Amino acid sequence: MKLSLASLALLAASASAFTAVTPAGRASTSLNILAGTQSATERVANVMAARPEENEAIDALVKKNFPGAISNKAMETKIASILEAKGFTPANTLLCTSLCCDELARNLEDDLNKVYGHNFNLGGLSGFPFAGNTGFGAMSAHVPDDGFCLLVHGPHVGISKDGVIGKVERSGIALVDNCCGSAIAASNYLKGITDGGAKITTKLQQFSDFQQGAVQELILPHGKRLNDADNRMKELPYALYDSQDILVRDIINGGKGGIKQGLALLSGIQINTGPDTLDYFHPLRFDYYDADGNVVESMIDELSS
Ligand SMILES: [Zn+2]
Repeated sequence: MKLSLASLALLAASASAFTAVTPAGRASTSLNILAGTQSATERVANVMAARPEENEAIDALVKKNFPGAISNKAMETKIASILEAKGFTPANTLLCTSLCCDELARNLEDDLNKVYGHNFNLGGLSGFPFAGNTGFGAMSAHVPDDGFCLLVHGPHVGISKDGVIGKVERSGIALVDNCCGSAIAASNYLKGITDGGAKITTKLQQFSDFQQGAVQELILPHGKRLNDADNRMKELPYALYDSQDILVRDIINGGKGGIKQGLALLSGIQINTGPDTLDYFHPLRFDYYDADGNVVESMIDELSS
């Protein structure tokens, strides 16, 4: 990627403007959401009242294909209550996410926005934390004084109502198409390398598609694992998760000096279903970091109990 001096100066200027945002600025943008005295658990109950009821057939289908998955409704209710017991409130918590660009990845994020206020977004294609160390540092500075961060990340995968993994129905679109499109494109790129057929290209590290270029680089260590999988589309989000898990924890570790009272890291696989049914999440990590940036507790068992 080649950037002109003018572009670099522009990037530097926008980065300094970014870090200049104060917690007071965040409070004003989130004022409407954070107004009121409802607890996080009360807010989750209100949010869930507007979501579809659990559908027995979809519930069985998702849990058969993704053992360990729970509905977003069940998960959000539990995380709000587990974190409330630790002192996380809507007013003292900044939600930070690293989820795919796909609008289906907003379902979970929108719910949590209604509980904790607007999120700081670290994520990009496939859910990778493209905002990196700079994004995490800025986010930490925006956590209310003596407050908490809830960081949620993960890749996502669709499942259609007839059980096809990697496809999902979308509102207003007849074609039942790929989900996650970025992950599947990266998987196809990798298959071209492991099985042959990859094309020589002059478009390496193009700025206009650098996120997908990074996803394709980060999927490379999983070539054998994906080729050996019984169902490549089912294995794909777990392979990407393993890469993301390393990257996100490395970024937290690099910026742990900025953690205020504590940070909860919830990560796993988002499972998107059609527009009339609930989404699901397979939690794979729910760690609590203390003010010194050390992981002092795993809360994952409380989520599945
Ligand atoms: Zn996606």
